[in-house]
Amino acid sequence: MQTISRELLEIIACPKCKSGVQLSRNSDALICHKCKLVYKIRHGIPVMLVDEAITMAEYKGENGS
Ligand SMILES: [Zn+2]
Repeated sequence: MQTISRELLEIIACPKCKSGVQLSRNSDALICHKCKLVYKIRHGIPVMLVDEAITMAEYKGENGS
């Protein structure tokens, strides 16, 4: 499984609020806790687009808990 590097994670910001994002527990998404939006990582590349982001509720529904 591809994961993004810590260096990359440090420079990535939420496109909506420009805050830092956090890697999800199973490393398949980046989460902005401020906006409660989840940016999926596709093929090792985070999709940092507000239009493509899903809500926290949708993300939890996808992955169970
Ligand atoms: Zn945000």
